[in-house]
This record gives sequence, C-alpha cells and structure tokens, in this order.
Amino acid sequence: MKMPIYLDNHATTKMDKRVLESMMPFFTEDYANPSSIDHIQGNKVLGKVNEARELIAEKINASEDEIIFTSGATESDNIAITGIARSLKEKGNHIITTNIEHKAILESCSGLKREGFDVTYLQVNRKGEIDLEELKNSINDKTILISIMSANNEVGSIFPISDIGKIAGENGILFHTDATQIISYKKMDVEEMGIDLMSISGHKIYGPKGVGALYVKRGIRINPLIYGGGQERNIRPGTLNVPGIIGLARAFELSDKEREKNTLEIKRLRDLFLEIISKDLDLELNGSIENRLPNNLSLYIRGIDAKALITKVKEYVSISTGSACNTDTVKPSYVITGMGYEKERAFSTIRIGLSKYSTEEEIRFVAGKLSKDIKKMLNFFN
Ligand SMILES: *Cc1c(COP(=O)(O)O)cnc(C)c1O
Repeated sequence: MKMPIYLDNHATTKMDKRVLESMMPFFTEDYANPSSIDHIQGNKVLGKVNEARELIAEKINASEDEIIFTSGATESDNIAITGIARSLKEKGNHIITTNIEHKAILESCSGLKREGFDVTYLQVNRKGEIDLEELKNSINDKTILISIMSANNEVGSIFPISDIGKIAGENGILFHTDATQIISYKKMDVEEMGIDLMSISGHKIYGPKGVGALYVKRGIRINPLIYGGGQERNIRPGTLNVPGIIGLARAFELSDKEREKNTLEIKRLRDLFLEIISKDLDLELNGSIENRLPNNLSLYIRGIDAKALITKVKEYVSISTGSACNTDTVKPSYVITGMGYEKERAFSTIRIGLSKYSTEEEIRFVAGKLSKDIKKMLNFFN
C-alpha cells in the first residue's frame, strides 16, 4: 500500500486516467480557440466542446444550451446566487438557503445582504436535515430564489431535492442546488426534480480541477459577474477551458456509467470502516447513517483533539477535520455547530471520505490503526 492513504475525497478526488487521456489531445494538437469559427481548427474544437456540452446535458435531462461552463462549483454557485439576485431584484429581494451550505453560497449571500437583500438561513437539525414546513413558512412575496445543496460536503447529509423543487415550483420561485458532492452517487434529473439551476465541479468526480458547470434552465436571465467576449451566452465570458471541459464531460460520462457499481462498493467499504473503528471505541456519528452520502463519515470522538489526531496519523492517512476551506485552526466547523452541537464536538470531529479507488485492504488497515492510535491518545490523557 502506498502511504499515506488518501481518505479526503470530499476535498478533491484523484483524476481517472481515462479522463486524463481524453484531455491530452486538446493541449498540443487540437488547441485552437473554439470561438475561432473562421477556420477548420477552431471549428473542430468547437465541435468537441459541443459534444461535451451535449453529453452533460443529456445525463441530467437538460438541453445543451442550458449548460454554462465555469471554473468550478465555486464560480457556478456565485453566478447562480449573485447573478440571479441582481437579475430579479425588481421582483424581490429575499433568498432562502440553509446554514450548512458551502462557503461559496454563504459568502455570496453575505455579499448580497450588503446590497440590500434579505437572506433566510434554514437551521438544520442534528441529522443535518431541514424541515420542509419551515421552508414553506419562510417563503414570502419577495422570495426570488431558494438555494439548497443536494448533499453536504462535511457531514454528508442528503437533502430532499424533489420535494424542495416542488415547493419552489408551486410558489413560482427559482430553485438552485449545489450538486457537487452528490452527482457521483445519484442521477440528477433537473426536469423531474424541479431544478432551475445546478452547480457541478470536475475535480470532485475524478475529473480535472478548475472546471465545472452551471445548469441554467432555458428562459432564466442571469446578470454576469464578469464581462468579456460573449462566450457561454454572455453569462460566463472568457476563452473556454477546452481540455478541462473535455475532461469534465468524460468524468461525467464515467461517473454516470459506473455510478451503481461504485456506490455499492464505496458504501460497503464505508460501513466496514465504521464497523471496525466502532468496535471498542465510544464514537458518535454526526448525522444519520441512512440519509448520508455513501462515501462519508463524520465521527465525533469524545475527548480527542481532532487536529492533534490528524497530525499524529498523517504518515499513514490523509483525513481532515472538515471542509478544506476551513483552514482556520481556531474556528470550529460551522457545519457541526450549525447542526446544534457545541463547539467541543466540532473540535473532536474527523471527516472521512472514501473514493472509488479505496480498497478493502486500505480501509481495514486505516480503521484498525486509527482505532489503536485513538485509544493510545485517550489513555495518554486519562
Ligand atoms: C468542493 C465544493 C465546492 C467548490 O467547488 P470548486 O470546484 O472547488 O470551486 C462547492 N460546493 C461543494 C458542496 C463542494 O463540495
């Protein structure tokens, strides 16, 4: 086994070699700008970009003109929140989201509050779930957008997207979801689920970093956040990241084709990990085991300083306390405290994220050794 073993797959994933292969020709052979439609080379690349767009659209039951390529889910989230809010500000100034969204959403909302928008943050319960009645009750005649993630990147809780889409639709409100974490495990059908806008990212699905997409339902107007040469229907101008787009589409295709097989195996290994590590340790899972991403564990280990533990075990396993974006060591995870837990619990929580590359050998090894190291740490302090 190659050390350290990587179990931080909510932060990013290893790129699939088949994805890399699909990208290679677009660096040194088919390098023309797809907007250069005056020549053969530009047109050839444009054709490939359009194929990629069609493929992604087809997998989520959308049309190719509804896919906007971006630099990743952060940008997709920013365009969805700020671009929609500014475009609909005559209609209303109220947005509904949750208190455990990714920072790309929360910080976009903070920015909008400074522009005079009103934001309702639905508080999740201890399972990381929202109350749909509360969602309904928080809608008013100024509500223009509901943005709720499909699954959380720290505690893995899954949100009832179809139900939310239905509520939004019945009230004539746009619905955006950040599907970055769920797309490997659940087929998203934007039509059936009532989704108007959806963010995805390449590097969370064994694809390249720095590329993502935003699905925008036809007819929805968005104010751009950057200005330029009119690419991507003027919503996201700038020369297209062709190798990235090709890689994103290939990653999407593979993830769609192998979803069932990967999900079953990852879940089996995740459950095995939990079984081994729980054997003689008093652990608690943050969130429920049922309504959870199949690759996620968020473990509360009473009496353990999570940062110290992660440092102690870093030679053999790469794990984190939570979001890769929360690099601040003194602040507890807002996701754990947002579920109604004390700070102490956040400081004693580790996040495990498996991938399709995780093996049973690795999982048995890490779970066993981690369990021993935790016991050692607990004995040392007691
Ligand atoms: C990783 C992640 C993002 C950010 O995606 P990038 O492509 O890295 O910008 C946004 N939302 C969620 C839920 C994520 O897990």
